[in-house]
Amino acid sequence: MHVLVLGGGFGGLELTTRLLDELGDEVSVTLIDRNDSFVFGFSKLDVMFGRSTADAVRHRYADVVRPGVRVVQTTVRHIDPVARSVTTDAGSFDGDVLVIALGADYDLDATPGLAEAGHEFYTVAGAFACREVLEQFPGGRVVVGVCATPFKCPPAPSETALLVHDLLVTRGLRDTSSIALVMPLPAPIPPSPDASKALLAAFAERGIEWHGGRAISHLDPQRHTAVDADGGEIPFDLFLGVPKHVAPAVLHDSGLTVDGWVPVDFFTLETSHPDVYALGDCTSVGTPKAGVFSEGQAISAASAIVARARGGEVQRYDGSAACYLEFGHDQVARVDIQFMHGQPPHGALSGPQHDLMVQKADFGSSRVRRWFGRDWVSY
Ligand SMILES: Cc1cc2nc3c(=O)[nH]c(=O)nc-3n(C[C@H](O)[C@H](O)[C@H](O)COP(=O)(O)OP(=O)(O)OC[C@H]3O[C@@H](n4cnc5c(N)ncnc54)[C@H](O)[C@@H]3O)c2cc1C
Repeated sequence: MHVLVLGGGFGGLELTTRLLDELGDEVSVTLIDRNDSFVFGFSKLDVMFGRSTADAVRHRYADVVRPGVRVVQTTVRHIDPVARSVTTDAGSFDGDVLVIALGADYDLDATPGLAEAGHEFYTVAGAFACREVLEQFPGGRVVVGVCATPFKCPPAPSETALLVHDLLVTRGLRDTSSIALVMPLPAPIPPSPDASKALLAAFAERGIEWHGGRAISHLDPQRHTAVDADGGEIPFDLFLGVPKHVAPAVLHDSGLTVDGWVPVDFFTLETSHPDVYALGDCTSVGTPKAGVFSEGQAISAASAIVARARGGEVQRYDGSAACYLEFGHDQVARVDIQFMHGQPPHGALSGPQHDLMVQKADFGSSRVRRWFGRDWVSY
C-alpha cells in the first residue's frame, strides 16, 4: 500500500512513523513538505527569548531515513481527492491513501498595520527575528495581541507575556515597562478554569494587564496604537502579534474547505472522500489547534490505515491531550485536557513546578528520537 502524506508537521511525522512501525514493508510512504526542516511551536519561544538557537531547534527532514519512506521537499499546488493525487512544483504524486496534514497559514493583511508596525511571532522566521527585537528593546509599553480566533496553541500568548516579563526583569527594564495581553478568548484557557485562574494570578503577581474578550483589528503605525474590534485603543512601543489563521490556500483552491477549514469525521479523521484523511490544524475537527491534538489525530488516522491493510480495530479519536504551559521563572504547568465530541471540554491542571520543565523537554526529545532517529537535548 502506498500512502501519500501532505505536510511533515506534528501530524504528518507522527502518522508516517506509526505506519512504518506498524506495517513495515507492507507500506511505502511519500511525505511532502515545502520546508527542509520541522520546528516545534514551543521552540519558537525558546529562540525568541534567547534560550536556544535557530540551528539547535531545526529538525531536518533529511534525517528521516528509514526503509519505506521518501521525503520530498516541494510545495503542493493542487489536490485531487477523488484520484488521491497531487500536483506539486516537483511533479505529480498519488497514493492508495491520501493524508492531508498541512497545518494552518497566516493572513497578516487581515490586520492592517500589523506587518508595518508590529512583530508577528507565530511563523518560524517571525519568532526568530523577534529575538533581536527583544534584545534591542530599550523598555516601554509591550502589547502581546491576538488578532482572531481560532489561533494555534491558545496558551502561547500567555506564555509570551510571562516570558517578556522575565526578560525585562533580567535586563533591568521591568520598572520602566508595562506588559498587556489582549486576547479574544474570555479566559486565558477557557476549557481549564484552574489553568486560567493560575495564569490570571501569575499576571496579577507580575503586573501584567489582562484584556480578555478583545481581538486586535488593526494597528495605527503613526500613533503606535493597537485598536480592537470595538474601537478600544491600547498604545504600544513593542507589539508582539498573533496573526489571523487560515487554512493553506491549496486547500481552498482544491475545494476541500467548508467555512475555512477541512471537515472530517471526529472519530476517524476521514474526509467525505474514500481513503482521504485530514488531521490537525488544517481541519475543523473541533479541538484547539495544537501539536498534541494533531498528534492524537494522527494516531487514530494511522490506526484506520493499518486496519485497512490488515483488518482489526480502529483506535477512535478521543480528543485528549496533555499540554505544557510555561509560567516563566523556570516553572512549567501541565494541563490534561479532553475535548469529547458533543460534550463540554474539561482540563485538569498540574503545577506550575520545576520538574515539569524536565518532562516537557523529554516530550520534545522523545518525538525527535522517534520521528528523526536521533537524539536532541532541547535545554
Ligand atoms: C509560538 C507557538 C508555540 C506553540 N507551542 C505549542 C506547544 O507547546 N504544544 C503544542 O502541542 N503545540 C504548540 N504550538 C502549536 C503547534 O506548533 C501546531 O499546532 C502544530 O504544529 C500543528 O501540527 P500540524 O501537523 O497540524 O501542522 P504543522 O505542524 O503546522 O505542519 C504542517 C506542515 O505542512 C507544510 N505545508 C503547508 N502548506 C504546504 C504546501 N502547500 N505544500 C507543502 N507543504 C506545506 C508546512 O511546511 C508544515 O511543515 C505552538 C505554536 C506556536 C506558534
